[in-house]
Amino acid sequence: MSLAAALAAARRGRLYPAVILHGRDAAARQQAALDLARTLLCEAPSAEARPCGVCRHCRRIVWPGSGAGFHPDFLVLERDLKTSTSVEATRELLRTAQVSPFEARGQVFVIASAETLSGEAANALLKNLEEPHVSAPRHFLLLAPASMDLLPTLRSRSLAVFLGPAEAVDPAAVEPLARAFANAAGRYAASGAAIYLLTAAEALTAAGGWEDPRAGRPWSTAAAAVLRSLDVEPAAPPGVRRACLALAEALLGGPAMRLRGVTAERILEGLVARHLAG
Ligand SMILES: [Zn+2]
Repeated sequence: MSLAAALAAARRGRLYPAVILHGRDAAARQQAALDLARTLLCEAPSAEARPCGVCRHCRRIVWPGSGAGFHPDFLVLERDLKTSTSVEATRELLRTAQVSPFEARGQVFVIASAETLSGEAANALLKNLEEPHVSAPRHFLLLAPASMDLLPTLRSRSLAVFLGPAEAVDPAAVEPLARAFANAAGRYAASGAAIYLLTAAEALTAAGGWEDPRAGRPWSTAAAAVLRSLDVEPAAPPGVRRACLALAEALLGGPAMRLRGVTAERILEGLVARHLAG
């Protein structure tokens, strides 16, 4: 889902209780969380005008430490340990979720680096999501570079909102990849021959720069090429479009898989096969 669609759902009071905001950079994810929180708690009479930016809720919903303003129903949990968000800090946040809102009609809880939640912390959060609704709406916004960085159990309980690739990619580098990928994907759709899945994955390896396991750029370039391939003639059928959108998102989780020791080629082959043939 796009951020615009999530904001529209929030205005109608239909936003899923747990939302993963992933993609782009940390600043963009924080801004998206603020936009959603303001929309959810704004008291402008017309829902269409939310967030109004001037009411007592909108004005006080700010990122912690970024200046004046505090809202008791908007809480941000930042990573408290060097590499993880601890179960203790998570439980403390969840205790606040047991009480009624102080001022607004609901509460918004933000987990700033959800990819760092310890296993125990993620399970505590999950348990909370599974509990029946308390008196007022409660929303959890989970911020992460890629939704793939979160536990599958958390992903399956949340709505994923993709904000876009992390790094600006060079359109000139994307174009030939997109054409080669579209060609192979089209051949696969027409013939069902698995060799074209390999050809499609190979087209993406041409993004280059895979030597550094932490590099995000090759994955962003590959994801951009998959998205761009949808604009290449002939137009892809709806099933292929959906598969390509999911593939592009999954590609952004590439660095996390690389750090588990899998080669880039294997990851590309696996993701292309899973999404195009699945
Ligand atoms: Zn407002």
